[in-house]
Amino acid sequence: MSEKIRVYDQWAGNERGIPEDKTRCVAEVTDFTGWHFYQCQRKRGFGPNGEYCKQHTKKVEYSKATLNLALAFADVKMKKKGSGSDKNE
Ligand SMILES: [Zn+2]
Repeated sequence: MSEKIRVYDQWAGNERGIPEDKTRCVAEVTDFTGWHFYQCQRKRGFGPNGEYCKQHTKKVEYSKATLNLALAFADVKMKKKGSGSDKNE
């Protein structure tokens, strides 16, 4: 029963990556180049499972809402497309 640990900045040139620091926020942040993803350096204690910092909690909730919206929209679009083609043919 070992809890899975996240790994950050894992890529071809750094296959082992950087293991998650359990005391810090789990959000990924990019460095100044935008190429590497690092673990957020803020202390966790907020959001789902208390794994996020205060700042990223908001982002997680926001992106979840956006994703749900996008999925709902895609669903509607698919249904429309489906029923539309039925009528046309
Ligand atoms: Zn954070």
